[in-house]
Amino acid sequence: MPSDIRNDAPPTVPAAPEVHPGIAPVEGVSARRVPIWTDPRPGLAFAGSGLERAAQLRGDAQAQARMLADPGTQVLPLWRGRPLFAPEDAAPGPAGAGLATVAPDHPALRGAGPAPIFLALSEGAAIFAQDISAWQPDGPLPEGAAFFDPSEQRHPDLPAGTVFAELRGRMMTLDPRAAEIAATARALITWHGSHGFCAACGAASVVEQAGWQRKCPACGAQHFPRTDPVVIMLITRGNRVLLGRSPGWPEGMYSCLAGFMEPGETLEAAVRREVAEETGVAVGPVGFLASQPWPFPASLMLGARGQALSEEITVDPVEIEDALWVSRERLLGVFAGSDPVIRAPRSGAIAGWMLGQWLADRLD
Ligand SMILES: [Zn+2]
Repeated sequence: MPSDIRNDAPPTVPAAPEVHPGIAPVEGVSARRVPIWTDPRPGLAFAGSGLERAAQLRGDAQAQARMLADPGTQVLPLWRGRPLFAPEDAAPGPAGAGLATVAPDHPALRGAGPAPIFLALSEGAAIFAQDISAWQPDGPLPEGAAFFDPSEQRHPDLPAGTVFAELRGRMMTLDPRAAEIAATARALITWHGSHGFCAACGAASVVEQAGWQRKCPACGAQHFPRTDPVVIMLITRGNRVLLGRSPGWPEGMYSCLAGFMEPGETLEAAVRREVAEETGVAVGPVGFLASQPWPFPASLMLGARGQALSEEITVDPVEIEDALWVSRERLLGVFAGSDPVIRAPRSGAIAGWMLGQWLADRLD
């Protein structure tokens, strides 16, 4: 049961489906056909907004052309994986609050390269994403090796006050709709950037389904956007929780243990294996808590909780640099920013969200 649904307050089904207002260029197919349930999880970035992805329009070339000819259609430009952010005081557009979008015929998109990707229908408009990574900014370039790069790029042709910036640093400035659109766009564009050639035969592949598929003209293989599942776990033993840090993390950063799932493995087994590999701690019962798309570049974080069966920690120095048990009392200090060693968790990431839910006793 999701942690935000309490036993004393059963979930209520919306009285009527939220019907999409529809857009003229795609009459008859733009209305939502079923009500879309969402899981509001304050503090968890990319938790979903019930976005109408309208997959039925992806293979419809006529609908795609009509939408791209409609001045109401909105295109989110991305530059090297960085979405275009709106000025703080900008009114929210159809793509939600915090992102800046432009019309399909905007000069900044001309000659950008690949065709725009159709993302969704939102607030009466079609939403596309366009990679304009070929643009060369005058200002500072991002540092590829940095854990987080705070630089911003301003495009002279794009609206005043808009900037390209790392999504990781601004994800909590977006409302849920904008966050879902930004995560989807970034993940798809990054996937295209690294999957230009067929994994089966090596020939150059071509984009299909409005950006949601690649097809190999040589051997016919179809390739779909990747999402890589990662388990991230809140491991507790009584009043304490297990935290660790990886080599190369910023000083004082500790988090829940995490690791990629392996083929042929269940979520529960992945939780137990990762914790055992990294710390030597044995884990018993495991339960699912919540998931979070994490487009850096293509992860799906699967938040789980597990009960430790043992306490002794034996760190595997190849996997992590340190691990320790942290009491509830100490974790309160961590969240308050008063712990001398451990800094407060990053806002928006699922580790901090799970730890906060545990501190607030909202997990049972
Ligand atoms: Zn091929």
